[in-house]
Amino acid sequence: MTYVIAGDCCSDASCVAVCPMNSIHPSPGAGGFGTTDGLFIDPRTCIDCGACADVCPVDAAKPADQATPVEVELNRSYFAERPALNALDLDTWEAPTFLPWTGGPRRVAVVGAGPAGMYAARELLLRSTAEVTVYDRLPVVGGLARFGVAPDHPMTKQIVETFTRVLEHPRVQWRPGTEAVVEELENRYDAVVHAVGSYQSRRLGIPGEDGAGSCSAADMVAWYNGRPGVTSLPVALTGPRAVIVGNGNVALDLARLLISDDRRLAGLDLPPVVRAALQDSGITEVVILGRRGPESAAYSASALRDLLALDGVEVVVDENTLDHSPALRAEPRSREGQGTGVSQSVEERGAEELLRGVCRGRVELGALPRPGRRIVLCFSTTPVAWDAAAGLTTDRGVVPAGNLFAAIGFVGQAVPGLPFDERRGIVPNDRGAVIGRPGHYVTGWIKRGAQGGIGANRACAEETVRSLLAAAPSPVLTAARM
Ligand SMILES: Cc1cc2nc3c(=O)[nH]c(=O)nc-3n(C[C@H](O)[C@H](O)[C@H](O)COP(=O)(O)OP(=O)(O)OC[C@H]3O[C@@H](n4cnc5c(N)ncnc54)[C@H](O)[C@@H]3O)c2cc1C
Ligand code: SF4
Ligand code: SF4
Repeated sequence: MTYVIAGDCCSDASCVAVCPMNSIHPSPGAGGFGTTDGLFIDPRTCIDCGACADVCPVDAAKPADQATPVEVELNRSYFAERPALNALDLDTWEAPTFLPWTGGPRRVAVVGAGPAGMYAARELLLRSTAEVTVYDRLPVVGGLARFGVAPDHPMTKQIVETFTRVLEHPRVQWRPGTEAVVEELENRYDAVVHAVGSYQSRRLGIPGEDGAGSCSAADMVAWYNGRPGVTSLPVALTGPRAVIVGNGNVALDLARLLISDDRRLAGLDLPPVVRAALQDSGITEVVILGRRGPESAAYSASALRDLLALDGVEVVVDENTLDHSPALRAEPRSREGQGTGVSQSVEERGAEELLRGVCRGRVELGALPRPGRRIVLCFSTTPVAWDAAAGLTTDRGVVPAGNLFAAIGFVGQAVPGLPFDERRGIVPNDRGAVIGRPGHYVTGWIKRGAQGGIGANRACAEETVRSLLAAAPSPVLTAARM
């Protein structure tokens, strides 16, 4: 299923900036922008990531199954006579043209072949005549788009194919499985773009966190995505209840995987050992525990919608934990205090709005789960200590559980040879130019912190490459559209 733009699109173009596939047209600056009745999504290239819907201020961008057939057809027909563009192509309908070198950087290294690095490489190819060498410590391209995005989002993962195409450009050299060293790069390139991401998990800082049954969500994500070097399950999975601390998209990704029944797991592209371990886990209840209230939940509406759409899984907000959120407590409850899913009327709203439609129930977390598959959303609850035998002690009591997963975000690691802001976990920079280190640039999560989906790295990389080319010896040759 793809997304479409329907209804009252106000053409503010918020969605264009976050679309990883350049699927939304006409974009600002291109012919037709401002003259068409809103914008349209190309169903041939949309990868179903939901980023457009998450930023749309008027709920005009939505999954195709929530639009009318006429609206779906309007989007399709806009592109009927136009060639399919993807993230490597120019934003106009013309093919890219490249001119011989008469200035600008001759050789640029891009360290990191995740989304940010690949968007930066694409931008360098588009706007300069530089040769681009892409390094990654992993043997394949994609970064977290390949080894982070959940296996039940196969369309989103398709973007890796587009990134792979960047490597096929005649001015690109690809150095897989290579750990880049700053000093060596300085001798060989006119400029270096560091796109190394930030994938170190934040820690809960509670006693027992490193004990049996407990690990970071990042470790689980690397395992279920088959990341090279991660060969075994980080902790034994022990049902019937697992607790995930964190209220972001990664927490929901992990919850969906853990709660999936055999039938759903069979339909996912998983390494066989991963599928077998999930089938054997015995987990039938996942508690997603947020330290703050529902109004602070960081997950996107599309991620929450995915959770609520799980077949045969009851999703319930634990009403006991809404004592700091009186507005949400006032929402209607289901019969017998049990959740039954989301009400139809709120399906197209943002995450907080969507949350209002999830049924509330008073969940007895001190006891073992009752039969059936269930996800319990708890708020305003602080984890205090973990013990594999007893479970998770919180400021509200003890929750018996076999596993604890921390999904409270990521932080960058220092790049040897570059300055580092320990507090923010980023390399300090001015629009991508590393402070105090001419010739070095950053993009992606190591530039702005671990936040934002794949598409957000596109505008981020464009800004960095603009800074790089502005500082390079002029004139810098560009593609025909500039
Ligand atoms: C679990 C998870 C799930 C996600 N799911 C989604 C989703 O469904 N949809 C979405 O839009 N966004 C999703 N995101 C966000 C998205 O993945 C990020 O926005 C994006 O990957 C950040 O890009 P990046 O290039 O900065 O970092 P990364 O993707 O981490 O890429 C960094 C690359 O640099 C390489 N590297 C690091 N150090 C070196 C070195 N010294 N030498 C050589 N190579 C090096 C790494 O191997 C890696 O390939 C998810 C994120 C996570 C963590
Ligand atoms: S942001 Fe994602 S869902 Fe929206 S049009 Fe682009 S690829 Fe499709
Ligand atoms: S964000 Fe929404 S309103 Fe704005 S251009 Fe995109 S679809 Fe239209």
